[in-house]
Amino acid sequence: MPKDDTIRAASITRAEIEQIVRSVVTAQLAMPELRVDASARHLHLCQEDLDTLFGKGHELHVHRPLYQEGNYAAQETVTIIGPRSRLISNLRVLGPLRKKTQVELAFTDAISLGLDLPIRISGDTAGTPGALLMGPRGVVELKEGVIRAAIHVHMNPAEASHFGVRQGDMMKLRIGGAAAVTFERVAVRIDPTSRLNVHMDTDEANACGLHLTKDIELLK
Ligand SMILES: [Zn+2]
Repeated sequence: MPKDDTIRAASITRAEIEQIVRSVVTAQLAMPELRVDASARHLHLCQEDLDTLFGKGHELHVHRPLYQEGNYAAQETVTIIGPRSRLISNLRVLGPLRKKTQVELAFTDAISLGLDLPIRISGDTAGTPGALLMGPRGVVELKEGVIRAAIHVHMNPAEASHFGVRQGDMMKLRIGGAAAVTFERVAVRIDPTSRLNVHMDTDEANACGLHLTKDIELLK
């Protein structure tokens, strides 16, 4: 190192060091742009139901990776049949597999199937309606697990501390534009592997004209 640089390095003041540290920390805390996705109707499968619907030992094929790390839309689809034999075909399977099968529909889908759905956080399916699922190799009579997923926001612990929220808290999502709406109850879901991302269903996205605006704000 040239001599004059050595002198400069030695003479950095405490204030200068603090300024450098501050700028590094601020950069690390900078929030990524808020991403809001509309989830089309879909289902998650457990191993047993995958085997029944697609054949023993079947493995899901990735159709398209989703924004949340490790999650994907599979190539596989099933047909869901409601209580009065009305059905929706091409219901997409999302991977990876889960412990319990769960179907997530918009209210519009539920009405066309003749199902009266509760709004639930993913995984909370006790006492929810069931349906018949039909795959290429078999049929599953799902006793419960059909829900309208509550609008929610995924975030990691650093993002949660930035917003000052905890697991299960409710936040507000203000959508601007021509069909401006504020969602008052956006459930916070914190996981170390998550990326900041709001999930709403297609009814919600259509109601607020999500595709029409970038003026979106997540508020505590
Ligand atoms: Zn989600």
